[in-house]
Amino acid sequence: MTSPLIPASETPTTGSAAAGDGVGCHAGKDEMLRAAAAAGKSETLDRYAADYPQGPHDKPQSMCPAFGSLRVGLRMRRTATILSGSACCVYGLTFTSHFYGARRPVGYVPFNSESLVSGKLFEDIRDAVFETADPALYDAIVITNLCVPTASGIPLQLLPKEINGVRIIGIDVPGFGVPTHAEAKDVLAGAMLDYARNEVLTGPVQAPRGGRGDKPAVALVGEMFPADPVGLARLLEPMGLAAGPVVPTREWRELYGALDCAAVAGLHPFYTCVYRVFGQAGRPVVGSGPVGYDGTAAWLENIGEACNVPRDKIDEAKRIHLPKIREALEKTPIKGRITLSGYEGSELLVARLLVESGADVRYVGTACPRTALSELDRDWLESRGIHVQYRASLEQDLAAMHEFRPDLAIGTTPVVQKAKQLAIPSLYFTNLVSARPLFGAAGAGSLATVINGAIAGKERFETMKDFFAGVGEGHAAGIWETVPKDRPDFREQNRRRLEKLAAARKAEEMI
Ligand code: SF4
Repeated sequence: MTSPLIPASETPTTGSAAAGDGVGCHAGKDEMLRAAAAAGKSETLDRYAADYPQGPHDKPQSMCPAFGSLRVGLRMRRTATILSGSACCVYGLTFTSHFYGARRPVGYVPFNSESLVSGKLFEDIRDAVFETADPALYDAIVITNLCVPTASGIPLQLLPKEINGVRIIGIDVPGFGVPTHAEAKDVLAGAMLDYARNEVLTGPVQAPRGGRGDKPAVALVGEMFPADPVGLARLLEPMGLAAGPVVPTREWRELYGALDCAAVAGLHPFYTCVYRVFGQAGRPVVGSGPVGYDGTAAWLENIGEACNVPRDKIDEAKRIHLPKIREALEKTPIKGRITLSGYEGSELLVARLLVESGADVRYVGTACPRTALSELDRDWLESRGIHVQYRASLEQDLAAMHEFRPDLAIGTTPVVQKAKQLAIPSLYFTNLVSARPLFGAAGAGSLATVINGAIAGKERFETMKDFFAGVGEGHAAGIWETVPKDRPDFREQNRRRLEKLAAARKAEEMI
């Protein structure tokens, strides 16, 4: 018998693509939801609907959400990752994860129409999990149902919870239930933390690699620049606190360390499932982060209170750190009007830092939902007249750029692309802004160079715009032997056809 588990890079051409075609992120979401509910996934989908409330941005406008959970799993030591989904989805996801430097194989259990509907796919997944569960190699195996297996009700919850000491974590991450890749990180991080909490409840667990510290620790939630946890540890030190593990963790045993905290710093507000598990473990969660002067002052105060730190120690921490932050902010001012949008979940924090650095920020868009943990930042920004848009769609981000005509647009790839066309200097949020220190004094000085440098490039953009004027625009964009003839009549015909189709669909819904 051939193994059902194959490396994704050797994806065979089975019927799986055919089975998945037409029912992916480009297909009807309602249809997928109905199918998934009928196949027994209502409970999972209801929980996702509550955890990840949807707004105008109710389906992926960027990458496949499963990329988020895939990355979380791939970054963990001794963790195997297996995907079950259409071949095209798995190809895209593995391509992207290797593009971003994953140095691990991604397992893939392929399917075709028959194995999908007959239940054989579940058996194949089960075989693959048993075959992979080698305790010498792995602490955990993460198996993910993508859109089609979720809609078909492949019951990962029926997999054994553990095989030969290797933990089995089955998650559903469908594009029609998890809106963004940020929230998909929460799905996996939350599932693992929950698993670890149950282990803690049932007996002794592994100690942290360097042993348990003697100070109460603050667990940190959110992916951040590698130097940020070090900076956070320095901020906490005068209060007699240590920085605990960062969730999503890089190793299974860190999950126990995270649960062993005095309080949780909810630096990224969208980890709803993770915060729920910390809440069940009796750990208080503090929102926002130590960004700029105001943000750091409030954060030290709130963390200190959550950890019952005496007043004089909280004041001491402020006395040590706040002047340094003020000095860094004054030394590296940012001048210019900025609109900012992204899907990392740290947009509001970055906007606060920009404002404290002197920038005239007008609009902050985030693909993430509004949650209780972002309220402090939202209040702070809105009280300064800044528009905060949760679940921001690309259209809203672009409209803000058109309305405010910023000196710099910080955004996602399509926003940056549009800004360039308009000769507005722009920066990618993910690659150039969120990949910098953000917290404490290090964060206060980190953004100015790149932001001011980009704003100063305005003239260059104008020159380029003049130089390329008319190139790559309209129906004749591209390189041709003979310039194509514009056919507005065809476009009009198609528009009328689409309108008719939409009207017919609407009429069917009303019957
Ligand atoms: S798994 Fe991702 S890429 Fe595939 S159909 Fe779903 S949302 Fe789209």
